Order: sequence, then C-alpha cells, then structure tokens
Amino acid sequence: MRRSLIAANWKMNLTFDDALSFVSSFKEFKFDTKKIDVLIAPPFPYLSDLGKALKKINKKIILSAQNIHFESSGAYTGEVSAEMLKSIGINWTIIGHSERRQYFGDTDIIVNKKVKKALENGLNVILCVGEQLPEREAGIEKELVISQLGMALYGVESDNISRIVIAYEPVWAIGTGKTARSSDAEEMHRSIREYIRSKYGRKIANNVRIIYGGSVKPDNISDLMSMPNIDGALVGGASLKFESFAKIISY
Ligand code: PEP
Repeated sequence: MRRSLIAANWKMNLTFDDALSFVSSFKEFKFDTKKIDVLIAPPFPYLSDLGKALKKINKKIILSAQNIHFESSGAYTGEVSAEMLKSIGINWTIIGHSERRQYFGDTDIIVNKKVKKALENGLNVILCVGEQLPEREAGIEKELVISQLGMALYGVESDNISRIVIAYEPVWAIGTGKTARSSDAEEMHRSIREYIRSKYGRKIANNVRIIYGGSVKPDNISDLMSMPNIDGALVGGASLKFESFAKIISY
C-alpha cells in the first residue's frame, strides 16, 4: 500500500514570521502519520530554522527545498547545492517545477542532471512533469509527459526510484483555479505508472508514488484522492494558509 504524500510548495511567498506561525499551528493539528506524509517546501533561507522548530512541534513533517543546482559547488552565484542541503539536514528537493522550466531555463537535460545530483547525495526528489495547454488541446499530452519523464530519469538506476515521487502537474492548471478532471488526472497517472513498469518492472511501478498538482483545494482533494493512481498532491496557492492546507491534509 502506498502512503499518501501531501506537499506544500510555498514558492517565493511568506515572511519568516508567517512561515514560523504556519508550522507552529501543527502543535494543535494532528493527522494520521501512519498513512500520510506531509511535506513543506519553504524558501531556502527558512529551511534551517523551520527544521529546528519542527523538531519540537512534529518530527514527522518533512522539509524540502524547491530546487537545487546540478553541480556540487563552485562559481554559481545565487545557487544552492544538494550537498549544502544535506549539511543542514534537508533530505528532499523538488526538481523540474514548471516555473523553473518556464522562467529559469530548466530544460529536460538540466532536470536530468539535477535529479542525478540529488540522488547521488542521498536526497529524495519530487520530480515535476506536465503538459502545457496547447499540447493537451493537440492531444499529445501523454507523449509529452512521458518524454519529459524519460529524459528526467535517463540513466537513473532502478534502486533509486524508491527515492523519487513523480508529480504530474498540468501547467494550465497551476495557479489558474482550473483543476484537471480527476478522471483525466487518473488517466495520466496510469500512463506514468505504466511507463515506470515498462522501464523498471511491476514491483517498482506499484510502489512509486505519483502525486497531482494544479489548483488543488480543500473542495477538490477528496475527489482526486479517490482515484487509485493518485497518491497525493503538490499544493501551491492553497498551501499558503494553514487552515486550507490543514483541510487538504484531512481530505
Ligand atoms: C504548484 O506550484 O506546484 C501548484 C500546483 O500550484 P497551485 O496549487 O497554486 O496550482
């Protein structure tokens, strides 16, 4: 049985005080830690202090970076490496978010380098893939997503797949209020699992977690989570207020 993963991607939002008050709210809020993993991806500067705070509040909540660089160190002004994250106790990163692909030049080749660097350093990865609206309208969304996935996983060995969570995020649904129909999301998740099966075998495919992202809110989460191949959610806008994120966790 796959554990659910509900992940908050705060992007470039919230002050440190907002962030601290958000995680402090977990003191009074309980969720089923046997069935659900909860992850928060705050901006880089907050990771260390939020990690210390969460040790006292709820040790089960996972902290994640939103991105890494594909090199270990060097002259890359403004960048953060997997090694740096490990050195402050962070074991997770998001890679390949559509905003990184769209605004920061993260091509499929760069995404692949980042995935390999993360795995080399023992990080777990939320790997984002998803089509743009014209690709869905042209009916080529599956080919596009499977090709992104194939490139991102190029050269990744089967024993590392257990450290990857795949996030299917149709770009037209991110931050737009337009959620994919749960049946359409399920169809894509099934194709992704089938692809993993063809590349890595049935056991790995059955265990890999595939989460959905794109305007997930308290009122659509249970419908999405009722689908057999949807194992959780990557939540942007609705993760910025504790009350709505808590409702999503309690789907
Ligand atoms: C995201 O940033 O990954 C995301 C899904 O954003 P939103 O929930 O706001 O659509």
